[in-house]
Amino acid sequence: MNKIITAKGLAKTYGKGPTAVEVLKDVDLAVNAAEKVAIVGSSGSGKSTLLHLLGGLDTPSAGEVNLVGENINQLSTEKLDRLRNRSLGFIYQFHHLLDEFTALENVALPLRIRGLSKEESLDRARALLQAVGLKARERHTPGELSGGERQRVAVARALVGNPACVLADEPTGNLDTETADAVFDLMLDVAREQNTAFVIVTHDPLRAKRCDRILRLDHGILQPYVAR
Ligand code: ADP
Ligand code: MG
Repeated sequence: MNKIITAKGLAKTYGKGPTAVEVLKDVDLAVNAAEKVAIVGSSGSGKSTLLHLLGGLDTPSAGEVNLVGENINQLSTEKLDRLRNRSLGFIYQFHHLLDEFTALENVALPLRIRGLSKEESLDRARALLQAVGLKARERHTPGELSGGERQRVAVARALVGNPACVLADEPTGNLDTETADAVFDLMLDVAREQNTAFVIVTHDPLRAKRCDRILRLDHGILQPYVAR
């Protein structure tokens, strides 16, 4: 099957000497096209660290990450930025939208960075805002939206470029249960239409169960999750 992301022997240690923290020891992972993988693990187990390495936002102490066939640890910054812009979407616990831009402009931004015309970017952004049910909010700035609406804008922004994979770090962790459920479902629905793969860090076992596979990070090792 077509692998979107593979990680081999991934290790990450922060710091040096006696205060060094070995967060990831030996992580292997392969994500298939359109596959939804949930990652669970206690706070501080290294889930965010792993997503940063998968997205090329940080470099591993050992091992390598392949993204759509490219070893990202061997790319120049420029090539990595380009690959990330074309192949990945990111969703965080806090929306990370730009406060001075409208919802529409925020969603269009990854396409503008990619070099698409303003018109084309805005057209595509409009379609995504419609897909997340926020067509009527396109001129609003993040400050004028509710928490759930802001996360839906973040979902639209992550998917607007039709990435091969979205990396989501507790994307609904800051929302009440009902809103979180709605945003989570929406995220998976929109992704299904685009055949986007997902790696989702989540605390919620019920949400994790909606993914194709659940992995647990524990003591620096990633293993299939076994319900106890
Ligand atoms: P999680 O997302 O599972 O809660 P993190 O990946 O954020 O865990 O953090 C894992 C461990 O690595 C924690 O002990 C944290 O303190 C440590 N850590 C994370 N980032 C850094 C950093 N930049 N420098 C030093 N230690 C870090
Ligand atoms: Mg985290």
